[in-house]
Amino acid sequence: MSNFIEKLRISSVNQGVSTGQFYIGSSGAILPSHSPVDGALIASVYLADDNGYETVVRKANEAFLEWRTWPAPKRGDVVRQIGEKLREFKEPLGKLVSYEMGKSLQEGLGEVQEMIDICDFAVGLSRQLYGLTMHSERPGHRMYEQWHPLGITGIISAFNFPVAVWSWNAMLSWVCGNACIWKPSEKTPLCAIACQNLISDVLLQNNVPEGVSCILIGDKYIGEKMSNDVRIPLISATGSTRMGKAVASAVASRLGKSLLELGGNNAIIVSKDADIDIAVIASVFGAVGTAGQRCTSSRRLIVQEDIYDIFKDKLVNAYQQLRIGDPMNEENHVGPLIDTDAVKNYLAAIESCKKEGGNFIIEGAVLEGIEYKSGCYVKPCIAEVFAHYAIVHHETFAPILYLMKYKSIEEAIAIQNSVPQGLSSSVMTLNLREAELFLSVAGSDCGIANVNIGTSGAEIGGAFGGEKETGGGRESGSDAWKNYMRRQTNTINWSGTLPLAQGITFNI
Ligand code: NAD
Repeated sequence: MSNFIEKLRISSVNQGVSTGQFYIGSSGAILPSHSPVDGALIASVYLADDNGYETVVRKANEAFLEWRTWPAPKRGDVVRQIGEKLREFKEPLGKLVSYEMGKSLQEGLGEVQEMIDICDFAVGLSRQLYGLTMHSERPGHRMYEQWHPLGITGIISAFNFPVAVWSWNAMLSWVCGNACIWKPSEKTPLCAIACQNLISDVLLQNNVPEGVSCILIGDKYIGEKMSNDVRIPLISATGSTRMGKAVASAVASRLGKSLLELGGNNAIIVSKDADIDIAVIASVFGAVGTAGQRCTSSRRLIVQEDIYDIFKDKLVNAYQQLRIGDPMNEENHVGPLIDTDAVKNYLAAIESCKKEGGNFIIEGAVLEGIEYKSGCYVKPCIAEVFAHYAIVHHETFAPILYLMKYKSIEEAIAIQNSVPQGLSSSVMTLNLREAELFLSVAGSDCGIANVNIGTSGAEIGGAFGGEKETGGGRESGSDAWKNYMRRQTNTINWSGTLPLAQGITFNI
């Protein structure tokens, strides 16, 4: 087990202080990191204290003042080399993600692949930070806009994507010319330390100013300090809606910028014109992948009544084949939840669903036995429900799937849109009219709307994020880079006179 940890050059005790390129802080307080896979203590890390916090913000700010003057393609070349380093260490880092977070090895490797992909994207972007030119209404004048970096980007991330979410933000933010301070989830600190270790060589070799990449290990206390800190113009926060509301109001009260990627409650509509086999695979992967701990996990299946029974039988059959166990064993489909608090939330949601009248066609349970000794393994379950149940409107971060019927596509879309969250959605249909209605202005209200693909597993090339209680942020591809920059409009007068805008005259 320790082989991949050694390859990542992280020793198993007391990760701390500075390596020259980043700073962890050292208050003497120690945070243990336990694996949900087998309950083992993987490492203990120092928590950042107030002094460590101040040092990081000062160093990041100093680094920014130099880094912003580097040509963007040169910054892009550093990111290219980071991508190469991640290719080299994809396997051990993917294993650490799997071991510390509990997702399957394939998903751990996939997460590192996402990091590599965003590096590639950011390298190209470093030559494409385009602004527009406009025609001035005044003769002998030229107008254009340009984009400048903001300063420090504060990145607060969730446990379920312990490395990719940081890279979505950091790689773009760096080519834009910012310094980044990362506060990873307190549940997956070692993944963050491993990332910093991997890239620190690249940063040193390229003489990147110390402080361009920083981490602060800590709990919500550090997140709150960052949110309230006027020296951090942008906070990009990924996590629960509860956290997002706290961050949004703190950042707004100082008129900073926030980029929020919060909870989802994603639905798949299965039409009577669906390819049922594709719909079943997409539904099962969406519901049980990462043990239901993706923001894009499929939590609700809205199935047309004519095919409801056939679909239900196939779904139950697929669930009966699922193998639950050590996620690093490729034979298993479902790994553990992150911790025993998550198990409690799973059990509470099942209880609430039953109280409201939910009919469990696949029962949930906490698994026991030597293989499940961490106490974090649960059985993916399916409940038949009505769309108005309160629990169905709530994101439970666990593999609980709610199954419901509909008659018309309009009704299905209304059910899909009836929850407070608005991240990902999909329709399974071969009927062009249904697909187009779902994508039209009268269709899905989510940031992501797919046809004949499930709700989870987005590519980095598109802008990623959602509406309503998901927070409205967009990260990763398309023009998400604009979040990390400030727009400046420039007007240059090369005429020999001073004509004023709107035809105003001012004679002296
Ligand atoms: P969480 O909200 O408990 O914690 C997320 C991060 O926020 C952690 O680093 C935590 O320390 C920090 N934090 C908590 N309270 C804070 C506060 N008041 N101020 C500042 N920082 C604070 O979430 P989690 O349990 O780690 O992750 C699961 C949640 O994240 C789910 O709701 C999931 O849908 C969401 N998520 C969303 C996306 C997305 O892109 N939309 C991606 C991944 C996860």
